[in-house]
Amino acid sequence: MSDEIIIDNNENGSSSNHSDDTNKSEKICMMCHRPESTAGPMIEMMPGMCVCNDCMQKSVNSVSNGQLDLGSLFGKLPTMSFDLSGFPGFIFGQSPEKEEEPEDLPEKFSIKDVPPPHKIKAKLDQYVVGQERAKKVMAVAVYNHYKRVIDSEKRRKQKKDIDFDDINEVIVEKSNILLLGPTGSGKTYMVRMLAKLLDVPLAMTDATSLTEAGYIGDDIESVLSKLLAAAGNNVSKAERGIVFIDEIDKIAKKKNANQRDVSGEAVQQGMLKLLEGAEIEVPVGASSKNAMVPLKKINTDNILFICGGAFPGLEDIIKERLNKEGSIGFHGNLRDKYDDDPNVLMKADPEDLRKFGMIPEFLGRLPIICSLESLTEDMLLRILTEPRNAIIRQYQALLDMNEVKLTFEEEALRAIARKAIARKTGARALRSIIESFMLDIMYEIPKDDNIGEVIITREYVEETGGPRIIFRGSY
Ligand code: ADP
Repeated sequence: MSDEIIIDNNENGSSSNHSDDTNKSEKICMMCHRPESTAGPMIEMMPGMCVCNDCMQKSVNSVSNGQLDLGSLFGKLPTMSFDLSGFPGFIFGQSPEKEEEPEDLPEKFSIKDVPPPHKIKAKLDQYVVGQERAKKVMAVAVYNHYKRVIDSEKRRKQKKDIDFDDINEVIVEKSNILLLGPTGSGKTYMVRMLAKLLDVPLAMTDATSLTEAGYIGDDIESVLSKLLAAAGNNVSKAERGIVFIDEIDKIAKKKNANQRDVSGEAVQQGMLKLLEGAEIEVPVGASSKNAMVPLKKINTDNILFICGGAFPGLEDIIKERLNKEGSIGFHGNLRDKYDDDPNVLMKADPEDLRKFGMIPEFLGRLPIICSLESLTEDMLLRILTEPRNAIIRQYQALLDMNEVKLTFEEEALRAIARKAIARKTGARALRSIIESFMLDIMYEIPKDDNIGEVIITREYVEETGGPRIIFRGSY
């Protein structure tokens, strides 16, 4: 059976490709075109429109465990009445899920729910090492965003629209954030921590998977479906959530593209509406819209969009601009002074990003540009040990369950940090480096109950020696 639903408007309800010898007054399924004599009793959707038991069951089964909202599918047809006798299990107008779905009642959200910037930063400090400026920028941006949310929710409750003629009325504009930073510098991590401490739903997506609607890939709205799912299908909760779109640099305008740029500029164009704030129909539980998926309307006005990217090559654009500026006037002798600056990304401005391939309308909707530093050996060392959930602490907790103490020599930690820098994937490399040499320890230790302490040495990390093992009772 094809998925296509052919609705024939013949008065007797027969399909045009149905053989002539069928009894003209016989009911015919509008989906499979079988007559009632073959397909069995029909459900009459409306005069002249029938669906057989099999097709109805298939439609219900085809959408996993009844996710199909028959109410929304058939709601598009004129009012109808059904004779459901003899069709147990069918619920029209409302899918079984709908009854269990949480109500979209707006939850109470007040300024007391949003910690002030210094508290947000203090909380971030417990998890995110360094990145002082970025943490500050994010804390203030998030705090202001949620103040704006509270204001707009108050207006909505009072059914009071913005009075554009009132010169005393202050309209706080939406401030989405663009996070720039080398890979593994903690962009995703910081956003995740923010959403956690604010207790708002978070959806993450990768811009590389998005394409213009109608092309292979996820529709741009699919990220809102994820947000809705993260909010437990509560629209009001989703409407004040955070959406993080990673790898945003990958949707830069393609240079010299002679085909339609469906995954670059078109995605930027498609995202404008979302970033700005609009009512968007979102497929529930799917990555693209189709007739079988129920839709919900989400207003993106109060959703905080954070886009992140490493923007490889942007440094050169910034350096070129800075060197050009530097070569004019008194600073002429400072030319090339930025060439060795590892944090030149922190000097990015919208013009540099435009040159990189981001369209001005897109950049205009991400007014807060925040750059993260590239991680130094010292920062990596701190990441290994300081955060509340530092990797080393995680291993120590695991071995503690075997009553074995795990310690790292300072030089071993430095060796791990140096190895991570060589891999050029930021802090992300730390875990894989540690996991590779911890494997043997995690395997061997439980074999011998006499082991009381394991000391990881620089030699062990650099694969020129082994760890120091101390047996119980030999302290
Ligand atoms: P990206 O910038 O590529 O999004 P991630 O946020 O995914 O990088 O970072 C990878 C991992 O590295 C995180 O899960 C986190 O454990 C660790 N990490 C990165 N930066 C920091 C940091 N500044 N402080 C603590 N951990 C960090």
